[in-house]
Amino acid sequence: MKKHFVVIGLGRFGGSICRELHSLGHQVLAIDIIPEKVNTMTDYSTSSTVTDATDKEALLALGIKNFDVAIVAIGENEHASIQSTLVLKEIGIKVWVKAQNTNHQKILEKIGADRVIHPELDMGIRIAHQLDSDNIIDFINLSKNYSIVELKATGKLSNRSLIDLNVRAKYGCTILAIKRGEDVNVSPSPNDIVHEEDILVVMGSNSELKHFEEKGM
Ligand code: ATP
Repeated sequence: MKKHFVVIGLGRFGGSICRELHSLGHQVLAIDIIPEKVNTMTDYSTSSTVTDATDKEALLALGIKNFDVAIVAIGENEHASIQSTLVLKEIGIKVWVKAQNTNHQKILEKIGADRVIHPELDMGIRIAHQLDSDNIIDFINLSKNYSIVELKATGKLSNRSLIDLNVRAKYGCTILAIKRGEDVNVSPSPNDIVHEEDILVVMGSNSELKHFEEKGM
């Protein structure tokens, strides 16, 4: 379903969100306080405007109330990011905000941001997990203790069925999907066979996943 988004702050982060949402066919209003930044997004948004996102009246005049989600991608100027989040929550819409550091993150959570994103921290964690193991292709944190990882199947798993591998009973984690080239088996059945080089999408606690990766792969 197509949605209405407002992206505030058109730096690298906000700009890439704006472009991507627009290319996915959503309605996107792009906002920045600097005209040059707004000009860079005219072709990649439904509409764009030079506006101070801390100014409640200005945002109300833009009809912000009717948008599904506001993405506040103002990083450097923490005061403006916090102020803008407060105003958007007062207006009554869902707000996703980019945090610059953990203090900023805590403040944003306290004032009611619906989601706080910390791109550098999150990406650093994902990359560290990929570096940690030769088999980990990607890593997504679900919570502090639970994750989804993509693991490359080794020869040890080759030509064995899921029932034979018995990953859930042995390691406590669940194989959600099996990727083979462009094909993705999103509801693998117990008799499905794993091939070497398949990518297994596995969910579990971090310790279970580590155990599976070290002993089961
Ligand atoms: P990135 O790391 O994503 O590239 P950046 O460092 O280029 O970010 P930031 O300083 O984090 O940019 O700010 C992102 C954008 O937010 C800038 O283009 C800035 O002009 C804009 N911005 C700052 N304050 C406001 C405000 N009050 N209202 C609207 N836009 C703002």
